[in-house]
Amino acid sequence: MKYVAVIGLEVHAQLLTHSKLFCGCPARFGAAPNTQVCPVCLGMPGVLPVLNGKAVEYAVMMALAVNCKINPRSVFARKNYFYPDLPKGYQISQYSEPLAEHGSIEIDVNGERKKIGITRIHMEEDAGKLLHGETMEDEAFSFVDLNRTGVPLIEIVSEPDMRSAEEAQAYLKALRDILVYLKICDGNMEEGSFRCDANVSIMPEGSSKFGTKAELKNMNSFKYVKEAIEYEIRRQIDTIESGGKVIQETRLFDASAGVTAPMRSKEEAHDYRYFPEPDLLPLYVEDKLVDKLRSELPELPRAKRERFMGEYGIPAYDAGVLTSSRELADYYEAVVRNTGEPKISSNWVMGELLRYLNEEGKTVSECQVSPESISDLIKMIKSSAISGKMAKEVFEDMYRTGKPPAAIVKEKGITQISDEKELKGIIEEVIKANPENLARYKAGKDKLFGFFVGETMKATRGQANPQLVNNLLKELLAK
Ligand code: ADP
Ligand code: ZN
Ligand code: MG
Repeated sequence: MKYVAVIGLEVHAQLLTHSKLFCGCPARFGAAPNTQVCPVCLGMPGVLPVLNGKAVEYAVMMALAVNCKINPRSVFARKNYFYPDLPKGYQISQYSEPLAEHGSIEIDVNGERKKIGITRIHMEEDAGKLLHGETMEDEAFSFVDLNRTGVPLIEIVSEPDMRSAEEAQAYLKALRDILVYLKICDGNMEEGSFRCDANVSIMPEGSSKFGTKAELKNMNSFKYVKEAIEYEIRRQIDTIESGGKVIQETRLFDASAGVTAPMRSKEEAHDYRYFPEPDLLPLYVEDKLVDKLRSELPELPRAKRERFMGEYGIPAYDAGVLTSSRELADYYEAVVRNTGEPKISSNWVMGELLRYLNEEGKTVSECQVSPESISDLIKMIKSSAISGKMAKEVFEDMYRTGKPPAAIVKEKGITQISDEKELKGIIEEVIKANPENLARYKAGKDKLFGFFVGETMKATRGQANPQLVNNLLKELLAK
C-alpha cells in the first residue's frame, strides 16, 4: 500500500512593534529577565489592556500580503489555561471571529508551482518563557522570565494542503520571507520569534478522507521542521502497516535523537473555555486603513523574483538568491544600474560578495563594499584594464578595507598588459626558450597550447591580458 501525507501548519510570528500588545512595555528580545514587565503584562488584578494600533497594522499588512480577506470586525477572546509562564491564567487571543481569513500563497517545489490555502490569521499575545535548570548548582530549578508576556503575535493557520515535508518547508520559508520583507517580524526561529507547529496525517494513495493527525511542536529550525515531519510520516506508516492506529495527540520533536515523542493525547487536551474578552471592545478595521496599507505594501519576494527573471534575464536560481532579502535585491539593482550588465553583476554579487559575507555570517547591510565600488570593478574588467583573475584579488582587498578598486589597483601596482607589441615580444621569448615543446606542438600535440599560455602568464607575473595572449599565441605558434 502507498500512502500520501497531509500537512497543515500553524505558524506564530512575533511582530516587531516597539511595545507589547496591550501595554507600553518594550517588546525587545534579550533584556535581563523580568525587566520589561508592568502590572498589565504581569496580569495583576484590575488592570486594563489597551490595544497597540501598530500591531493591528502589521497584522493587516501580513493578511493582505497573503491574499486574506480582512474582517471589518473581529473579536478578542480569552483562552483559559494555567501555566507558570502565564500569570493572568488566560491568554488574550482571537477565536471565532479572527482578523482575517481565506488567503493563499504560492510555493515552488521541484519546479512545480502550488497554491497553499491560508485558513485564518488572528492576533494574540505571547506567553512568558520558562528556563529549565539554568543554575550552576541545580538542574531541578526552573525560572520564569516574563519579558515575553504580552509581546504581539500573529498566528497564521494553513489549510491541510501540503503533501510532503519539502512542501511544508517551502511554505514556511515563503511565509518567513514575506514577513521579513514587510519588516514586521525578524523571522528568527532560534530565538523563537518565528515558530511553527505541524499537523501531520497520512492516508492511502487515492483516498480523499484524511487520516487522524498528530501535532508536532518544538521545531526551531527549517531543518528540524523537515526532519520532524519526515520522521512522523514514517512513524505513522509503520504504525498502520503493523496493524496499529494513529491517535490524535501532540508530539514533541527531539532534535538530538531525530524522533517525535508523545507529549499529550486528546484526552488530556486542553479545554480552553474561550469567551469574548470583556475588557476589550470588538476590533473594527476600517476600509480606509486597509486601502492605505495595501497601497503601501512593498514588492513581495515572489513578485520581485519574477521581475528579476523577466527584466534582467537572469536564471531562476540567481533571481532566488538575489531576492532573498530586500537589501540584497536593492544592492544588486544598484549594481545593474551602474554596469548595465545583469548577469555579470549577478555573478559578482552572488558569487564573490555573498561568498565572503556568508563566511562571516554577515548580511549585505553590514558590508563595506558599496554597489558603486563593485560596479567600478566590473567596468575595469570589461575595459580589459584588469583580468577577471586580478579582479578577484582586488575584490578581496575591497572587501577587507572598503577601499574603491581604483585605489587598490594603484596601490598594488596591478596593471594588465594589453599592449600587443609588448606581449608579442614576451611570447616570442617564451617560444624561443622551448624548442622541444614547440616541435611537439607542431607535430600535433595540441594540449601543449596550455603550456605556452602558462609560460607566458608566468613571464608576465599573471598580468597579461588572457584573451590577447590566446590570440597572439595562436598566431605565433602557427608560424
Ligand atoms: P484543531 O481543532 O485540532 O486545532 P484545526 O481544524 O483547527 O484542528 O486545524 C489545525 C491545523 O491542522 C490546520 O493547520 C489544519 O490545516 C491542520 N489539519 C487539520 N486536519 C488535518 C489532517 N487530517 N491532517 C493534517 N493536518 C490537518
Ligand atoms: Zn507591560
Ligand atoms: Mg485549531
